[in-house]
Amino acid sequence: MNEKGDGRGSAEIFVQSPPKLGNQYQDDRFLRAWLRRKLPAEVLRDIEPELDEMGRLAGGELYEFQLRDRLNEPQLTQWDAWGNRVDRIEVTPLWQRVAPLAASAGLIGIPYARRHGQFSRVHQFALVYLFHASSDLYTCPLAMTDGAARTLMVSGNSRLIERAVPHLTSRDPAHAWTSGQWMTESTGGSDVGASLTVARQLGDEWRLYGKKWFTSAITSQMALTLARPEGNGAGGSGLAMFYVETHDSDGRPNGIRIERLKDKLGTRKVPTAELTLEAARAELVGENRGGTRSIEPMLVVTRAWNSVTSVASMRRGVALAAAYAAERRAFGSSLSDLPLHVDTLAGMEAETRAAFLLAFELVELLGRQESNDMTGDERALLRLLTPIAKLLTAKQAVAVVSEAIEAFGGAGYVEDTGLPALLRDTHVLPIWEGTTNVLALDALLRGDLNSGLAAVLKRIESCRTSIVEPRLADLAQMPAAAITRVREWLKHHGDAAVMQAGARRIAITIGRALQLILLIEHAQWSLAIAGEDAAGTIAAARRFAATPVDQLNQILPEESQALLRPDA
Ligand SMILES: Cc1cc2nc3c(=O)[nH]c(=O)nc-3n(C[C@H](O)[C@H](O)[C@H](O)COP(=O)(O)OP(=O)(O)OC[C@H]3O[C@@H](n4cnc5c(N)ncnc54)[C@H](O)[C@@H]3O)c2cc1C
Repeated sequence: MNEKGDGRGSAEIFVQSPPKLGNQYQDDRFLRAWLRRKLPAEVLRDIEPELDEMGRLAGGELYEFQLRDRLNEPQLTQWDAWGNRVDRIEVTPLWQRVAPLAASAGLIGIPYARRHGQFSRVHQFALVYLFHASSDLYTCPLAMTDGAARTLMVSGNSRLIERAVPHLTSRDPAHAWTSGQWMTESTGGSDVGASLTVARQLGDEWRLYGKKWFTSAITSQMALTLARPEGNGAGGSGLAMFYVETHDSDGRPNGIRIERLKDKLGTRKVPTAELTLEAARAELVGENRGGTRSIEPMLVVTRAWNSVTSVASMRRGVALAAAYAAERRAFGSSLSDLPLHVDTLAGMEAETRAAFLLAFELVELLGRQESNDMTGDERALLRLLTPIAKLLTAKQAVAVVSEAIEAFGGAGYVEDTGLPALLRDTHVLPIWEGTTNVLALDALLRGDLNSGLAAVLKRIESCRTSIVEPRLADLAQMPAAAITRVREWLKHHGDAAVMQAGARRIAITIGRALQLILLIEHAQWSLAIAGEDAAGTIAAARRFAATPVDQLNQILPEESQALLRPDA
């Protein structure tokens, strides 16, 4: 661009066009193909207008709003002008826009209305997947709301089901509630058994006393939380799960003080608070012990949300990087014609598809569980896949989104492109809802790992029998071989410390083996259907197979100690 008279002299000035997003549903060829494969035609026909509309909003109005809203953050007002403690939080303009949208779109309501039976979870999470990256993590309170609704539903507590679930699942914004999940204390988020919050029974009523160290979505109307009824023993089994409404019927705080909002690396639009509970009125949801077990349904749901939002963040990074590559030129060509840049983007795309297939495998299993239409193997698969999908997709998201930042060169590092926020917001995904290590241990050491691995092998076999394409047949041997090696490894490394030290590598190997077979299965399907992207799906499977799927090795805990503490 040659500009004159603008005070910048007469030198040629170049202005780079920013990346543009289109309709995120129409542009996502992979999502649309997967939905065609998985959903009965009449179900897809019924939900497609909603997906199209969400895709339009996510790539247009909401994305533009998000960029304009970049500098706003939630504000906490602790006192009013007259000295009354009010602890009021004002959320950002984008959050004010998307809260009613999320309710009316049914992002929580859909799986409870169950219009499409076992496919209702796919319906819901396809919308969540489109919504997430343009919502400034409004998916955080939504995940906990869904988790709370599910937990109350399976608790059998009819009073609380009648009181709260209609609000949590409502599609009427004026009626809809969100829920928090208050577990983490300063003593530990992984080791919640160390919680110090006490529950005191006063007649028919329970009151809670303690401090909750990380409470996101503190603007919610209710929360599920853990506390130790007086007289109960130590550890997780001595905790009980409680239902708390954050305000009384006159709108006054229910014995809850917001001490401050956290000053965080990312998720800066999410108000995450430190709370003091001072005689907060609470209701016991079920038993007065075993709270860590009672709250598990919440974690199954929030980990599925984490997996889907991880993939959504990856998709946004890839979509922006691909759009930019088409606009940006270097060395006389478009970036999208430079072989190495194309190779880099293709690697990101293959990881994103692999993560998508694993996350949505989990979503499908959840839908079947809620339809009471599940085999024993599927139950074992759901149990093992929940922590593995969460930990693996979150790690993939950080890697892919980080690569997307680099794909913009220096622009990726500049705040008002909106790109750094995407990386910062993605970085929370491996931490909350269980860190990578804690979930790897959960996958391996709790539950029946043998049944889980047997179910994984059966799933792999069921995919492998459908493979007839020679370019895929060889690759299809790899996943079963990796799982067999996991079993061998476990047989020969019975020592508890060795098992713990290897847990992350084992979990990632199981997850990547499943991702590979799911890519292969999808590619085989594409080949058989005219008009599907067979070449692309085969390329994704071949490319993913060339990355380390099997991450097992023989590193022993004492070797790691020697590396970190040479003088010990
Ligand atoms: C933005 C944000 C929002 C959050 N919102 C909420 C919320 O709404 N509600 C809520 O309850 N919590 C919330 N959390 C807390 C979050 O769930 C915890 O931070 C997380 O579970 C980790 O707990 P911690 O911080 O105590 O770390 P720690 O448990 O101290 O872990 C520290 C490190 O030790 C590792 N580690 C721990 N145990 C083991 C082990 N046995 N073996 C190997 N490694 C181990 C972990 O992997 C981690 O790397 C939020 C956190 C963030 C960052």
